[in-house]
Amino acid sequence: MDTNELKVIVNMIKNTFESELENEPTILIGADAQNYVDSMEELYLSKGVSLKKQFKCSNGMYLWWFNDNTIILKQNFRVKTLAHELRHAWQFENNEDGEFRFIEGVIEKNPILYYFSSKERDARKFARKVKSRVKGLNIGH
Ligand SMILES: [Zn+2]
Repeated sequence: MDTNELKVIVNMIKNTFESELENEPTILIGADAQNYVDSMEELYLSKGVSLKKQFKCSNGMYLWWFNDNTIILKQNFRVKTLAHELRHAWQFENNEDGEFRFIEGVIEKNPILYYFSSKERDARKFARKVKSRVKGLNIGH
C-alpha cells in the first residue's frame, strides 16, 4: 500500500465516522512503527506498559497514553486493523460521556475484560462496517 492508497483509505474510514475526526493521528507502519516503539519503551515502562511486548503480539495499536495520538501498524496490516485503530482515535476524541474507558494497564491485567469493553466492541463493530464498504474496491485486503 503506497502513501496515496493509504490516504484514500484513511479518508474513506474518516467518512464512516458519525462525526468529524479533528485530530488525525500520525500513522506509522512497519520499521517506522518499530523504531517508534523502541524509542518510547522506557517512557511506557514508567506507566507499567511494555510497548514492545504489546506491539509484538498485536497487528496494530492506537497510542493515547501520553496524548501520542499515534497509530502503529505491522508492515502487512489489514484495512480492518487500520479502521479499528482509527476508531480508537475517534473514541478518544469523542468521549464526553466517558462511554469509552481508556485505562492504563487493563490489557495486561485483564485481557478478557478488555476484549469485551465498550471501547473494543465498538471498534470491532466499526471495523466490520468499514470492511463491508471496501469490499469490491481493489485496495488492501
Ligand atoms: Zn482495540
